[in-house]
Amino acid sequence: MASATRVHVGVGSNLGDRVAHVDAAWLAMAALSSDGVVGRSALYESEPMGPADQPDYVNAACRFSTTLSPHALLAALQAIERREGRVRPALRWTARTLDLDVLLYGDRVIKTPDLVVPHPGIAERAFVLQPLVDLDPSLVVPGRGPVSELLDALGTHSLRPLARRSPT
Ligand code: AMP
Repeated sequence: MASATRVHVGVGSNLGDRVAHVDAAWLAMAALSSDGVVGRSALYESEPMGPADQPDYVNAACRFSTTLSPHALLAALQAIERREGRVRPALRWTARTLDLDVLLYGDRVIKTPDLVVPHPGIAERAFVLQPLVDLDPSLVVPGRGPVSELLDALGTHSLRPLARRSPT
């Protein structure tokens, strides 16, 4: 049996019921996890990159172990995005129901046309780094350093914890 690798996945949504899309992502990713366990960060809100006339994002990250290869993992994540109703318009950085990114795949560095790991921009984005710090402050981004130090180096940012709806 292939051995499992610990991966970190970024989760974002800024269209429709954002929290419901994120909740669906947790469930779906449990099926990709070799032991069914998915460790989750807290949820945050951030302002969108790119066109400003779109809703704020809900952001989070998770980690799990998987026997999927990097490209098989990417394909599985894209299938989950499609199930949650994601359409891919020609424009970058437009609103989306669900965005799943391979942030880290063990300590591998991967540079292929359709998959770059660590995810580009990981070290410059508080909405990626803060959820990773939640999961493990000593986690190292290959070639860049520990996530806690990368987050500190960003200084102030506009990421805010998501106020969860109270149960009715
Ligand atoms: P986005 O619109 O931000 O979801 O970008 C999706 C595109 O980025 C896809 O065509 C992927 O092939 C590509 N891509 C490159 N590296 C990654 C990565 N680490 N995780 C997810 N998508 C990636």
